[in-house]
Amino acid sequence: MPLIFEKSVPGRRGLKNPASDADAAASIPQKYRRAKACPLPEVTELDIVRHFTALSQKNFSVDTNFYPLGSCTMKYNPKFTEEAARMPGFSGLHPLLPQLRQGEKLTQGALEVLYEMEKFLCEITGMDAFTMQPLAGAHGELTGVMMMAAYHKARGNKKKYVIVPDSAHGTNPATVAIAGYEMVAVASDERGVMDIGELSRKINAETAGLMLTCPDTHGIFNSDVDKIAGMIHAVDGIMYCDGANLNAVLGRFRPGDAGFDVMHVNLHKTFATPHGGGGPGAGPVGVKEKLVPYLPISRVIKRSDGTLALNYDYPESIGYIASFYGNFAIILRAYAYILLLGKEGLREAANQAVLNANYLKERLKERFDLAYDRPCMHEVVFSASRQAKRGVHALDIAKFLIDKGIHPPTIYFPLTVKEAMMIEPTETESKETLDLFVHVLFEADDLSQRNPAYFKDLPQSTPITRPDEAKAARDINTNYFKA
Ligand SMILES: *Cc1c(COP(=O)(O)O)cnc(C)c1O
Repeated sequence: MPLIFEKSVPGRRGLKNPASDADAAASIPQKYRRAKACPLPEVTELDIVRHFTALSQKNFSVDTNFYPLGSCTMKYNPKFTEEAARMPGFSGLHPLLPQLRQGEKLTQGALEVLYEMEKFLCEITGMDAFTMQPLAGAHGELTGVMMMAAYHKARGNKKKYVIVPDSAHGTNPATVAIAGYEMVAVASDERGVMDIGELSRKINAETAGLMLTCPDTHGIFNSDVDKIAGMIHAVDGIMYCDGANLNAVLGRFRPGDAGFDVMHVNLHKTFATPHGGGGPGAGPVGVKEKLVPYLPISRVIKRSDGTLALNYDYPESIGYIASFYGNFAIILRAYAYILLLGKEGLREAANQAVLNANYLKERLKERFDLAYDRPCMHEVVFSASRQAKRGVHALDIAKFLIDKGIHPPTIYFPLTVKEAMMIEPTETESKETLDLFVHVLFEADDLSQRNPAYFKDLPQSTPITRPDEAKAARDINTNYFKA
């Protein structure tokens, strides 16, 4: 598809704005003004509409197709929450308003959303307080581990290491490194959860804490969490819960009751707000009492007269990690979603997510090898090792699915499973959709026996077939020069 620059014709215009009587440029100092006109494409309004509509139709989305991308919880985002986010009282708010005394009454509704959302998340997770500021799960992790570091500093603890299981999401080790700690990895045992024996050998007085994804990245619930928490707390370490998989346990298990001291929640996974393309998302972080003094600023407080305000006066806070309210429109959608489902609805969502994943596990295991043959949570990890022996790898099956209009599962992650295919159907998919998915995967398995070579040129339905992904990442060039 040509770039919009290639559709440019000199002099062509869309809407012509009437000339303004105020000369805006005059108020900008000469040295900041452009010397030459900006080389924007010259196109009509229709050219623009067609160009971007066509591009949007190349997007793969939950609104158009099944998206069982494990670890990502690509559930359907109800349009009701979009309506909430578009209410002019919210969408028209200027972020500076709450800092002006006279503006405060205009922001009481928005502050109430933040205030109540904190209460909701505390109730759902068993934590004592939340910050709504972090802009993604990874950002929440960094916020949490920075609070871990502030806690140790305040107590004069000399700490060096954070323990992470080998199945962890890549953001966990990255967080540990950015927060200034060294990572210690612990292997998974034959059940697919952290090996307690190895863990006990790796804990020492310099252990700052442990990051555990709960339920685990293998889609398995680790029933040793309280035992692990006891071991970490014995050296005054902090238990971090990567809560990206909260969708599996809503209304059934609260990390705050099991010994975790701090956790992040991905609103853009569990609470049906949009994600993809790197954001915007929201990764609120919850803490138990002992970490409350270190929460980032600002925090929403209720004054004695019942009004709400943003408070910045927390001397032990780790400081600013985002501006103003965090990603407010995302938080607002999640708030609307929680109100829409209610307590029973949230628990039902988790039940259905787990049921859907177990249904796929039972149906697919006839043709595909299971990484761990035991009941799973909201996602299930298969291995394409049987197909790989015929020369058809997880990547080939993923490309086959694209041609069938299904988003591939997460492949080659977790790193602990060879030829991994991590499937997360979510609760929003019907049995018919799951059956179609099984049918298509069985077709791939049949083809891998009859004609493995067929897979090598897939997909055929996309503008680009098999890019050199390593080259695309290492040798990136996004500049456009007209030939
Ligand atoms: C998605 C995910 C993250 C990171 O969240 P982002 O919002 O993508 O930064 C961290 N851990 C796990 C287990 C995840 O699935």
